[in-house]
Amino acid sequence: MNDKQKTFYLTVFQYHNMIDKLFKIFSNHTRSLEILYLLEDIKKAVRLDANDIELKQIRKFCNKENLHLEVSDFKVVKVIDKGKGAYANIVKKVPINYLEPGLYHIYISKDADKAKFLKLLENKNDDKAIGELLGYPKCCVDFFMENREKQQKIQNDYILPALDNSQGFKFPFYTNYAIRYFDITLLSHFPHSFYCEESINMAKNNLQCIKNYSKELANNFETMLKGPVLYTENNGVFSFRNYRLNNNILEFNNVLPTKNNELLTMLNKDKKIIIINKNQIELNNKIIEDVGFMVFT
Ligand SMILES: [Zn+2]
Repeated sequence: MNDKQKTFYLTVFQYHNMIDKLFKIFSNHTRSLEILYLLEDIKKAVRLDANDIELKQIRKFCNKENLHLEVSDFKVVKVIDKGKGAYANIVKKVPINYLEPGLYHIYISKDADKAKFLKLLENKNDDKAIGELLGYPKCCVDFFMENREKQQKIQNDYILPALDNSQGFKFPFYTNYAIRYFDITLLSHFPHSFYCEESINMAKNNLQCIKNYSKELANNFETMLKGPVLYTENNGVFSFRNYRLNNNILEFNNVLPTKNNELLTMLNKDKKIIIINKNQIELNNKIIEDVGFMVFT
């Protein structure tokens, strides 16, 4: 091996190591990648949550990488969504000395002022300014603000409002935010529509960043993001694999669920659904309403 080859292999090895290293500290893809985007200057600031043990490790990591870390003066307790694995779109603020195990919100940036400002904005519950500082597109921040009151009364999930804003049910895979419940996403925000140009560009950029570190992870993400998704508010989210879509009939070999329930049993039995429209499907001669059906390609 010559020197040039050695440098190449060493770089690839270190790149792989970076994702592994982040995963060990931040424990899932979504959080690890947020930090990767921050280190790569794709994002200017991030907000995450962490328990006491994680916070200790994260603090050490931030010191080493010269990242500024601010920790909330409160803790949050997750209010787990129904049917989305262990995912929580709603968190409840509790005092810092709360006895039950809670999570801190943490604000990280290369710029100390940004981390401090983010903490200040969250103390004021200024979601609009937080969204802007976190780099979300203006159209998507406005969308969030417009739908917030209505959605917070249910589970604070914006997949169905985004689908309402999107013509048809076939969308580019970049905006597939519906399988973030499987820890797979290229975005950190709900897109205002699955055609949102700015979100698509952000996702493309993020995918390229992942690719630079791990082609394997980038490929896995792309494979998983592509495909049909059935979203229900309370009854699970389902990702279909090995599928065929003929007009409005979807046939599939496998289905990945966030929840093992009657709906999953029916899907596994029939291996076929009829799409009446993006909010209505027919399964086993039964009409199921108020769902979100999307195909990402
Ligand atoms: Zn948008």
